[in-house]
Amino acid sequence: MTRLVVIDESHVFYEFNPGLEPVARVKPGDLVVFKTLDALGGQVKSEEDTIEKIDFTRVNPATGPLYVEDTGPGDVLVVDVLSLEVSGRGVIVTAPGEGVLGERVDKAKTRVCMVNGDYVEFKSLKLPAWRMIGVIGVASDEKPSTGIPGRHGGNLDTKYITAGSRVYLPVFHEGGLLGIGDLHALMGHGEICVSACEVSGSVLVRVGVVKNTSLPWPIVDYGGSLYILVSMDSINDALREAARVAVETLSRALRIDWIDAYMLASLGVDVGVSQLVDPRKTAWARIPKHIVQPDTLLKALSEIRPE
Ligand code: CA
Ligand code: CA
Repeated sequence: MTRLVVIDESHVFYEFNPGLEPVARVKPGDLVVFKTLDALGGQVKSEEDTIEKIDFTRVNPATGPLYVEDTGPGDVLVVDVLSLEVSGRGVIVTAPGEGVLGERVDKAKTRVCMVNGDYVEFKSLKLPAWRMIGVIGVASDEKPSTGIPGRHGGNLDTKYITAGSRVYLPVFHEGGLLGIGDLHALMGHGEICVSACEVSGSVLVRVGVVKNTSLPWPIVDYGGSLYILVSMDSINDALREAARVAVETLSRALRIDWIDAYMLASLGVDVGVSQLVDPRKTAWARIPKHIVQPDTLLKALSEIRPE
């Protein structure tokens, strides 16, 4: 029987640390609601609260961790994002040294952005909302801070992780130890000034498992395409690795020579940037499902190691 478990925002953590005690246990197929704080831990309440004033040990909280039974190292955790609700009020922040153009910023600034229905208000502008999950990941030996993206997921800040998406994460520890946080009401890929419209909220997911399948990087199934999400110190390296994995995957999935897969990727695969401002940068390669179906792609990916 399917269960519904709710994990509230009193259960947050700051490292995807395998030593953390799970706050809930579920079986594959169960539904889970994660209630989340915003990425600033709710510390920025008005435009007078700039990020220079906040406690950085409380930044990027993730709600969890959740233990998924029958899921362990060498499996893939499947997270179906069924719905995503955000608060009616968000904040965007920047400060000297932050973001892509941080050297041009002379003082810290916060703006409150109201979220009204399907719009985010910024000054006199009404911008179409794009609700998404910034942080989603599992425990790894590296004990990564929740502010860093990587093979375990984490601070991926990718617009394609939204309602209707399916996220595949490689599992490194028993139960996976899933955490979710850092919802955005709106973000542009790149996240140029270092933050998005940062909101608290609530995410309903269904968890599942694909047994005995490894993945070099997290994968997202969204809107008719599969995205390989690569996070590295340099965006150039991340873009190259995303392209390399896409070409290798196409070659194996379609049983074609590498050189043909290379040309096919040049015709049908897009690459792009998720974010340029976290401790590691995230790039994606998008493979449309009319080229390869998810099951075939996952099988091919499981034979590929990260470089
Ligand atoms: Ca983030
Ligand atoms: Ca954020």
